[in-house]
Amino acid sequence: MTYQNYSLKQLQEIDAAHHLHPFTDHKDLRDAGSRMITRAEGPFVYDSEGKEILDGMAGLWCVNVGYGRNELAEAAYAQMKELPYYNSFFKCTTPTPTLLAKKLAEIAPANMNQVFYGSSGSEANDTALRLVRHYWALEGKPQKNRIISRNWAYHGSTITGTSLGGMSAMHGQLNGAVPNIVHVMPPYAYELARPGENDHDFGLRAAKAVEDAILEAGADNVAAFIGEPVMGAGGVKIAPESYWPEIQRICRKYDVLLMLDEVITGYGRTGEWFAAQTLGIEADTITTAKALTSGYQPLSALLVGDRIASTLVERGGEFYHGYTYSGHPVACAVALANLDIIEKEGLVERVREETGPYLANALTERLAGHGIVGEVRSIGLMAAIEIVKDKGTRERFENVGFAAATVRDHAMANGMMMRAVNDTMILSPPLIWTKETIDMACERIGKALDLAERDLRK
Ligand SMILES: *Cc1c(COP(=O)(O)O)cnc(C)c1O
Repeated sequence: MTYQNYSLKQLQEIDAAHHLHPFTDHKDLRDAGSRMITRAEGPFVYDSEGKEILDGMAGLWCVNVGYGRNELAEAAYAQMKELPYYNSFFKCTTPTPTLLAKKLAEIAPANMNQVFYGSSGSEANDTALRLVRHYWALEGKPQKNRIISRNWAYHGSTITGTSLGGMSAMHGQLNGAVPNIVHVMPPYAYELARPGENDHDFGLRAAKAVEDAILEAGADNVAAFIGEPVMGAGGVKIAPESYWPEIQRICRKYDVLLMLDEVITGYGRTGEWFAAQTLGIEADTITTAKALTSGYQPLSALLVGDRIASTLVERGGEFYHGYTYSGHPVACAVALANLDIIEKEGLVERVREETGPYLANALTERLAGHGIVGEVRSIGLMAAIEIVKDKGTRERFENVGFAAATVRDHAMANGMMMRAVNDTMILSPPLIWTKETIDMACERIGKALDLAERDLRK
């Protein structure tokens, strides 16, 4: 690499001149200049100034095995030398996507035995939507094509991903969504439960919103419900325990398919390989990407349940869909090596038995009592901290997002990378975090909260 020949300032100038970043206010970025992350090791990333930052977001929810894994680099190198690319169209394929599909079927819930590959979560959700509608058409019910999703959902950023998702700001720029997708309330008790309503009752009410949407359209017109088992980008919103069993019951009652978007929760984050297993629910499709390769290569895998797969095989007829890089051999080789590490190091079990409970306890004991913390919540290694002005009334600070951004900036200055969604701080660290890493994170976050409170109450 030759970037060392450039100063930070030169790199920032080149970046500003030529590189449009994702999800960015480009005017803002031009004024601030971008932060260059230049290397990483284990749980830490380092910027061009050599500053060490504890990465509480695993990149973007993906680097589950941490940074600096030679095995993954070697798997890519070996595959590139032997066969860098060949497609899976026209009755061909290559060995690595085939073996990865077998491996995924082994770790996936029992009814999921087929895999459709893409290069991103957005692509995989595009596949999922097309596949589900294709399924009902093959079943002789082409009008059964409505999809029910939720406000605050994040399902990617292509037109399909945005349409499936429930982010109002994104919809505002869509200028024509994919038709026949409706959104209902999310299971977000902290803001949406009524005074006096307990979590259990709220969970049932949030699930009832899905049933109401089915009844409104008529069950014969509803193809599927799609949801993230834990809403990630929407602010780590964890549904009450009553919610998912009720969703499953409703989907079965009206013969509506259940599509899970596990792009974040897949591959160990909640203490099982998939959150479907953590929550005990059976889905028809499971979208996965991100941690499938721990972010070392772009790859997505849509896991397809037996019900849909058997119809595809029995009815036949070409499914006119796929990507040049579906089943990319290098990405699949890296995924196999990544799953191998997760297995050999027992990272899923570690989250379930050790670090997940430890994180939950640390957040409760050390941060929940803080003056500007309204609630902490976590499942496995994903967590949220609600920032409020008044703990009792849950009143927020003025200017939505300003308070959490203040916490985030102090955290960053203090060597702690975490994200802010409106006024919710979120964490989704690599699964290699130990109890000691969690202690370090809590200390840095605590300090950031103190400094933010001082600023915000001025
Ligand atoms: C990140 C994400 C996506 C989109 O994945 P991309 O690889 O960015 O296209 C979809 N769904 C969920 C739940 C995600 O977190």
